[in-house]
Amino acid sequence: MLITANNTNRKSWLNVDKGSDFPIQNIPFGVFLTRDDIITIGTRIGDYAIDLGAMHQLGYFNEIPLTDDIFLQDSLNDFIADGRKTWRLVRNRIAEVFDTTNGELRDNAVHKDKIIFRMEEVEMQLPVEIGDYTDFYASKEHATNVGTLFRGADNALMPNWLHVPIGYHGRSSSIVPSGTPIRRPLGQSRPAEGESTPGFGPSKLLDFELEMAFITTDANKMGKRIKIEEAEEYIFGIVLFNDWSARDIQAWEYQPLGPFLGKNFASTISPWIVTLDALEPFRVTNPSQEPTPLPYLQLEGKNSFDINLQVGIKPKGSKETIVANSNFKYMYWTMAQQLAHHTVNGCNVRAGDMMGSGTISGPTPDSYGSMLELTWRGANPIKMDDGTERKFINDKDTVIMRAYSENEEVRIGFGECVGKIKPTKE
Ligand code: MN
Repeated sequence: MLITANNTNRKSWLNVDKGSDFPIQNIPFGVFLTRDDIITIGTRIGDYAIDLGAMHQLGYFNEIPLTDDIFLQDSLNDFIADGRKTWRLVRNRIAEVFDTTNGELRDNAVHKDKIIFRMEEVEMQLPVEIGDYTDFYASKEHATNVGTLFRGADNALMPNWLHVPIGYHGRSSSIVPSGTPIRRPLGQSRPAEGESTPGFGPSKLLDFELEMAFITTDANKMGKRIKIEEAEEYIFGIVLFNDWSARDIQAWEYQPLGPFLGKNFASTISPWIVTLDALEPFRVTNPSQEPTPLPYLQLEGKNSFDINLQVGIKPKGSKETIVANSNFKYMYWTMAQQLAHHTVNGCNVRAGDMMGSGTISGPTPDSYGSMLELTWRGANPIKMDDGTERKFINDKDTVIMRAYSENEEVRIGFGECVGKIKPTKE
């Protein structure tokens, strides 16, 4: 089926500012609360939120086989479970309705009033009820940097890393939408030099992790695996993801079983899920893989995406300093490889599951995706525009992540993924 929604010649009768992340070619999916306190599934064009529940009730999706209440829900899970064909039909139809040449809705003031909101009138919610959350560790630069910091340069990359897309099972209960304040975690840390009792208190090394995460549909029955050639069929879309990390808690607890309380206190996602379909024009080949992975992880073609990533820190009462610029294409292991690997043992993946990429660090020191790497565990503090310095994240700092793809014809963005740190409650 053609993705007519991606037609770059198309313009909307809704105003879209130049440089907007949300032209009519994007059509992401999210969940929001309207000014009348109604929760609904929606999309966004420019700075307008569009109520898909109202559109469906008013008959705009009559040609598509959808259940009556598919958009009148507080999560996208059921819509995602409908599968790729339905996502495409709906995105194509939205593009058609909002096309500048189409008067159906444009010329119906009563319907427009029910369907269209200004972004400042709505409150974005978590777009999916996340069932299982898995976090990968797919950037070679990041794994090498962290390995060097935690274990020394000689043991930086573990012997399995170039063969296995490494990941761990995270926790979904503490994944929150952009804008939710984050409380600095309390916890144990490594005993100080010459001490035998561990440290305990508010984390001193609070960090962000610049990641992207993909949301899956029902993919496989338990015991059956997803072949790598089919893997992308089961990916609904991508969000920007800040996987907050307390490095002092992490360093003390992570052996032998891996990440735990240093990671599971909070993770922030951007509220609009950008579909894999919308990102089609931005496919690129992933970094070459040497040694060649096992056959079940081999896939020819362009299986990565060129998505610019940026992180800024805004101290309270002062302006933002950009601290990192990276790109999703630096990821060594692709999403298709991650999904094929995740299910190779028969593990079943469901609609609404989320898979984080792991911190995305690029090859240069200004493209690292965490403060741990950017400041080399505090050895090289970052100078902020207001004259202060940061080794890690301070209380009342706001961390802002942005992501967008752009070529001469179109820009497809993710908006922002924002979180402000509140002091620990002891
Ligand atoms: Mn992570």
